[in-house]
Amino acid sequence: MKRELKVKPIENGTVIDHISGSKALKVYKILNIEEKLPITLALNVPSKKGVTKDILKIEGLELSKDDVNKIALISPDATINIIKEGKVIKKFKVDIPKRIDGIIKCTNPNCITNKENIESRFSIEQKNTLKIRCEYCEKFINSIIISK
Ligand SMILES: [Zn+2]
Repeated sequence: MKRELKVKPIENGTVIDHISGSKALKVYKILNIEEKLPITLALNVPSKKGVTKDILKIEGLELSKDDVNKIALISPDATINIIKEGKVIKKFKVDIPKRIDGIIKCTNPNCITNKENIESRFSIEQKNTLKIRCEYCEKFINSIIISK
């Protein structure tokens, strides 16, 4: 018998699938889910090409554009499934945007965005191996620190 993962389907909410690199907990954390929503987390699920993936299902959650951008930065291969009344009504792959405002912090301690209350702004100059440049100090950030 083929082994299959059985998880109770959700009625209304979001399924974040194909989370790579065991990042599901990180994705969960950056979503800042304040209410106590029912969450199903599947880790290291066998996927195609012999790699494993994580799946995060959140009943009752709708993602904002910022949420989707945050997920893209952490797990660029993730797909988002929007579920209404038990059916997938929309499915899309996350995409790293060309620009990001807020969301992440500049890693240059001398950057003005770290000294004054200014919203950070970045341009993404390379997507495959991420190169993100701060528009204030013009330095590339060396790690992704989610700011909220
Ligand atoms: Zn900067």
